[in-house]
Amino acid sequence: MNNENKPPENKEPNNMKFNFNKNKFALFFLLSLVVMFVLLFMVNENSVDVEIPYSVFLSYLEQGEIEAVKILDSNEINGTLSSASGGEYTVFKTRIPYYDDHLMSQLREMGVKITGAPKAVSVGQVILELLPWLLFVGFFWFMLRQFQGGGNKAFSFGKSRAKKYHSELENITFADVAGQDEAKYELTEVVEFLKTPTKFTNIGAKIPKGVLLVGMPGTGKTLMAKAVAGEAGVPFFHMSGSDFVEMFVGVGASRVRDLFEQGRKNAPCIIFIDELDAVGRTRGAGYGGGNDEREQTLNQMLVEMDGFDTKTGVIIIAATNRPDVLDPALLRPGRFDRQVVVDLPDVREREAILIIHSKKIPLTKNVDINRIAKATPGMSGADLANLVNEAALFAAREDSKTVSLEHLEEARDKLLMGIARKSKIISVEDKRATAYHEAGHALLHYHLQHTDPLHKVTIIPRGRAMGMAISLPEKESYSKDKSWLLDRIKITMGGYIAEEIIYGQTTTGTQNDIQQATNIARRMVTEWGMSDTFKFISFGQEEEPIFIGKEIARHKDYSEETAKKIDTEIAMILDESLAATRKILTDNLDQLKLIAEELISKETLDDKDIKLLIGIEDTKKGKAE
Ligand code: ADP
Ligand code: MG
Ligand code: ZN
Repeated sequence: MNNENKPPENKEPNNMKFNFNKNKFALFFLLSLVVMFVLLFMVNENSVDVEIPYSVFLSYLEQGEIEAVKILDSNEINGTLSSASGGEYTVFKTRIPYYDDHLMSQLREMGVKITGAPKAVSVGQVILELLPWLLFVGFFWFMLRQFQGGGNKAFSFGKSRAKKYHSELENITFADVAGQDEAKYELTEVVEFLKTPTKFTNIGAKIPKGVLLVGMPGTGKTLMAKAVAGEAGVPFFHMSGSDFVEMFVGVGASRVRDLFEQGRKNAPCIIFIDELDAVGRTRGAGYGGGNDEREQTLNQMLVEMDGFDTKTGVIIIAATNRPDVLDPALLRPGRFDRQVVVDLPDVREREAILIIHSKKIPLTKNVDINRIAKATPGMSGADLANLVNEAALFAAREDSKTVSLEHLEEARDKLLMGIARKSKIISVEDKRATAYHEAGHALLHYHLQHTDPLHKVTIIPRGRAMGMAISLPEKESYSKDKSWLLDRIKITMGGYIAEEIIYGQTTTGTQNDIQQATNIARRMVTEWGMSDTFKFISFGQEEEPIFIGKEIARHKDYSEETAKKIDTEIAMILDESLAATRKILTDNLDQLKLIAEELISKETLDDKDIKLLIGIEDTKKGKAE
C-alpha cells in the first residue's frame, strides 16, 4: 500500500479517524450534536418567523398600522400589525440597526401598546447556551484521547486492554513447548492448583501468588504461560508491561486496577504480565527524580498483589529478561516469590523445537534435523521457529514441494549472517585473497587438539563478512577450558597468518579476527585467572552505580603497574599463539594451498570435502601425543 498516491483526504493521520461503529461514546456524541441543532431550530421556531427590514417597520409605524410591540432585547422587536391592515402576516419581528432615541416617543405618539420582555432564562435557552460549551469540552477531551491512545484504543482510556485468550481457542499445552523440563516441572504445581484449588487450600498449603519467568527473549516464556493456562483449562489474560506505561499520570495505575478486576471476575484464571521490567524497575533510581507515572503504576501493582487472596484462584505469571533491574519489593514473599528460569535450548532441545515446528511443513524424507540443531548453538526457540519458516519460504521460492536439508541450512545461514549476497560481483583477486584467508582458519581445525570440528568453510559473502569458517561443537558445553580458548585464538589468527604467508602483508579484513582474539586473551587474564602472573583474581569489575541509572560501567580497580602487567600478559598470549599458528600453516603450506584453490572453484567446502582433499583421517586422534 502506498499512501503517497491517495487523495489528500485519506492522508489524515490514522489516529484521527473516529470509529463510530464500535464506540457508543462516538454515537452519543453524534446524537447530542443532532439534538443541539433540533433545539436551536425549535427555539427559533417559537419566536416570530417573519422578519422585516427596520425601514419597513418605520413606515408601518408612521402609517399607524402597528398595534403592539414587544421589545425583546435592546435591538429586537416583535410587533403586531393592526388587523385592519390585513397583510399576509400580522406578527413580525425586526432588528433595530442603531440606537434610535426617537423610537420610544414615536411609538407612544402613535398609541402603540408597548411591552417589554424579561430577560428570558428558559430551560431551553440555558441548554442552548451551555450545549456548545459542553460539546466543545467533550470534543477536546475526545481528541486528547485520540492522540494519546491512537486508533481504536481511544475509548478504553484507563481500562487494562488485557488480551484474553481462552484456552479452548488456542489450546496450547506443555506438549507444544519443547524441552524446558525444569520449568514445566515447577509449573505443574500451578496447573494442579488451578484445576483443583480446594485440594490445596483444604490442607492449608500455600500456593505462590506470582511466578516470575526469567529468560532471554524468544525462549518461550509467553508460550509457557499460555501452556499453563491451556493445561489447566482456565482463561488467560495477557498484558505487556509497556502497555501500562503511558503519557498521562494515573493511567497505568488504573489499568493495573482494571486488569486485576478482570482477573477476579474470571477466576480461576491466569494473569500474564509480559516485560515486567518495563514497570517493575527499581524505584528512585535513574536520572533526575525518576518517573512518577511508572512508580505509581508499580505501587498499584504491589497493592493489588497484596490485596489478593490465593484462594480466589488467580495466579499471576510475569516474564522478564532483566530480573536484576526489578524492584526488590516485587520479589518479596506474597508477590513474585517464585522464579522459574527459562533457558536457551541446548542441542537436544533445539532438535525437539525444530521437530515441533517442522510438523507444520512438508519435510523431504530423512532430513537430518539433528544436523541443523547442532549447527545452531545459541539460537532461541523463536529463532528456530523463524528458521523453519524461512526454510519453507526458500522451498516455496524454488517451487519445491518439500523442504529439504539444504533449505534449512540456507535459512540458518541467512539468519546468522544476513542474506547471501551471491549476486555481488567480486574480483578474482579478492576472491583468491578471501579463499586463502578462510583456508587459514579452516586448516587449523585439523592441526589443533582442542577444537570443535569444522562444519563448513565458505567464501560466499554474507552480511558484512567476505566468507566464514564455522565450527560445530560436538557437545554442548557452557564452560570452556584454557586449552580450548588458546586453540580458539589460533583459529581466529589463521586468516591473518595465511594472508601474511601468501601475500607478505595483511588486509583490513582481519579486523574482526584481531578483536576477537584480543578479547579472549584479555578475559583469560582479567576474568578467568588463566595467565602465568595472575591466577585467582578478577580485574575491571562491572559496576552498577545507582545514581546513573543502572548503566553498566567498567571500573578500573587496579594500579598503573598492574595495568602494565596485564597488558604484558595479554601480549604474551597473543604472541605465542601467533608464532604457533604461523608454524602450523608454514609447515602445512601445501594443504593450505589445496584448500584455498578448491574454495576458489567450489566456494563452499564441508568437513568431509576437506578431509578427502588433504588426505587426513581423524587427524586429531592420530596426532595425539
Ligand atoms: P518469549 O516470550 O520468551 O520472548 P515466546 O514465548 O514469545 O518467547 O516465543 C516465541 C515463539 O518461539 C513461540 O511462539 C514458539 O513458536 C517459539 N518457541 C520458543 N520456545 C519454544 C519451545 N521451547 N518450544 C517450541 N516453540 C518455542
Ligand atoms: Mg514474550
Ligand atoms: Zn577471518
